[in-house]
Amino acid sequence: MMVVDVHAHLDFEEYDADIDKVINENMAAGVKAIVNNGVHASSNRKVLELAKKYSVIKPALGFYPVHAAQVKEEDFDNELKFISKQENIVAIGEVGLDYYVGDDNPHGDKYKSEMRKCFQKFIELAHRKNLPIIVHSRRAELDVIEMLESNSLKNKKIIMHCFMGRHHLVKRILDNGWSMSIPCIVNKLQQLQLIAQMAPIEQLFTETDAPYMSPYPDIKRNEPRFIIEGIKKIANIKKLDSEEVSKMIYLNYQRMF
Ligand SMILES: [Zn+2]
Repeated sequence: MMVVDVHAHLDFEEYDADIDKVINENMAAGVKAIVNNGVHASSNRKVLELAKKYSVIKPALGFYPVHAAQVKEEDFDNELKFISKQENIVAIGEVGLDYYVGDDNPHGDKYKSEMRKCFQKFIELAHRKNLPIIVHSRRAELDVIEMLESNSLKNKKIIMHCFMGRHHLVKRILDNGWSMSIPCIVNKLQQLQLIAQMAPIEQLFTETDAPYMSPYPDIKRNEPRFIIEGIKKIANIKKLDSEEVSKMIYLNYQRMF
């Protein structure tokens, strides 16, 4: 099977001890491309290093909204400048908005205006560089869509990562011609199954968000090869063959990136 992961974080410390082994095992299982999304300045550096070392890793650079809102504007702008100078990146990501209050975002939407400002700069950068933009939107789905709509009507290279918004928002994204990427935990979440059903296969991608969101209860750390579980579920929903689905998603990847 040909597996594409458009949203992973293999630069995270969870992989530090055995990254060679992880890459080898994933390639042996049919993983053809891993779009590794950077989440802050040092993460972006590590993503570039990994991409240099392993050709299966395709670098996407960005700034996770929670982190972006909390650094000094000057530091953010310096990072933006650094990203804008990179010639070999395949996408802008991970970027977006996050209004959810939780352990990883204790301030919720308190820094909303800072987050919006940062996201706006990334939307413009993706536009200027003509790169796909991989978007995080947690409890901020409508704001994300409105910002993208008002900025990039001509830019169809938009991938909504792990989108959990409501039905009418999913429809709006698809009508705009944007894409959605389905995490390999699609088995467990009805919301994701609905997206897989609604979206034409040409507008679908697969992802892990590794190390998070493993599809197996007994394996905590996610890996791109586990996407095979997601592909099986998408095939089942779309009444297609798994091989066929994996090939079509690979074609989508080649077209977009
Ligand atoms: Zn992520």
